[in-house]
Order: sequence, then structure tokens, then C-alpha cells
Amino acid sequence: MKMKSVAIDGPAGAGKSTIARELASQLGYIYVDTGALYRAIGLFVLSRGADVKNENAIKGLLLGLKVEIRFVDTEQRVYLNDEDVTSKIRTEAVSMAASAVSALPAVRAFLLETQREIARNNNVIMDGRDIATVVLPEADVKIFLTASPEERARRRYEELIAKGVSADYEAVLSDLKERDYNDSHREIAPLKPAEGSILVDTTGNELEESVEILKGIVREKL
Ligand code: C5P
Repeated sequence: MKMKSVAIDGPAGAGKSTIARELASQLGYIYVDTGALYRAIGLFVLSRGADVKNENAIKGLLLGLKVEIRFVDTEQRVYLNDEDVTSKIRTEAVSMAASAVSALPAVRAFLLETQREIARNNNVIMDGRDIATVVLPEADVKIFLTASPEERARRRYEELIAKGVSADYEAVLSDLKERDYNDSHREIAPLKPAEGSILVDTTGNELEESVEILKGIVREKL
């Protein structure tokens, strides 16, 4: 039986993960956060002290490396060589490293099949930057979610403060703009809406409003 898939792409802080998680739980689908895979590789490269832009060095590091997503009670966990790194990948340094390594064709090729295999075996809501353009071009629903950089930085900043992490709004905004630039200007699989994607701008929306909009789109398409 062919599995169903919903692809949600967009820049950092657009609300993809929160909205996708909520939709997945309502539909009984698995939520797959593909950014976590790039983060795991970013973490690994940093831990080895390698240059995040040196493709040859990173190709060497990828040999024999195992990056996996496992689901524990439908909650995604990420493993690097069998070590659970789900919490470790959520730092600003790892965000920037993930953005750098994700521009390397060797890294994208390394992760492609892992993502497709999950979608072959499960009904998924998958979020990332190239899900509708590259990973699952045949997805049943394709959504491109965005919001203004200032609003996305404000959400990220408030998330950090709520977690008790000290943060500086201007620094969050500048990192976010740098990641947007990297992600949308790279040669391979740049961040952009796919043919046939539905654009949703969540600027000024409460989270609940955005969830309702996406629920409506998904209900109509599936
Ligand atoms: O979504 P998240 O912010 O966790 O992603 C971290 C980084 O991984 C992004 O800035 C992007 O460079 C990269 N990424 C990607 N393709 C995806 C998901 C994430 O290039 N499908």
C-alpha cells in the first residue's frame, strides 16, 4: 500500500516543526524533522575538529558513519553511531554547522535515502528545506511555510528565553539571516517553493491560526 506524505519546507523559525508535530498527531502520521539529520552531521564534524566547509575531509568522516532516525512512541530520536544525540544537536553552534555542511553534495547524497526510506514505510509529515523539491517530489501535499525574518527571530528568541537560555535578539536575527542566505543560495537543493507548493505566510499569526490553516489544506488535499 502506498504511504501518504505531506512535505513542509521553509526557512528556520517559520513554525514548521511545531505545526507539523501537531498535524502529525492529529492524522496519526509520523513527524520527521529532517534538519536533525544535518544537525547530527554538523555535530559530528565539529566534534572531530574538522572544517565544516571542507568537503573532502567530510567525505572521509562520512565513511563508516551511521546516522539514523528512530521513533520512540512516535517521537523522533536521532542517533550518531548508536549514540542518542537528540538533545546535543539543539545548540546555535550546531545550527550554523548544519547549515554549512548541508551545502555539500556529499552530505546531501549521504542523507537522501535515509529520508526516502522513512517515507516509503510510513505515512509522514516531513519538514525541511528540499522535501517537496528533491526528497519527495511526489508528496501528496506540498507546503512552503514562511514568515518575516524579524518575526521568526522573535519566536526563536522567546523560545530560548522560555527554556532559560540567555539570548540576544540581534544575534539571533543575524544568525537566522545568515542561515536563510546559505540555505537559499547554495547550488544543490536550495530552499525554494516546489512546483505546486502552497505558500503560507505565518507572519502575525498565533500558532493556533497557522495550525488551522495547514489542517485545512491537508484535509482538502488528502
Ligand atoms: O530545520 P533545522 O533548522 O533544524 O535545519 C538545520 C539546517 O539543516 C538548516 O539551516 C539547513 O541548512 C539544513 N537542512 C537542509 N535540508 C533539509 C533540512 C535542513 O539543508 N531538508
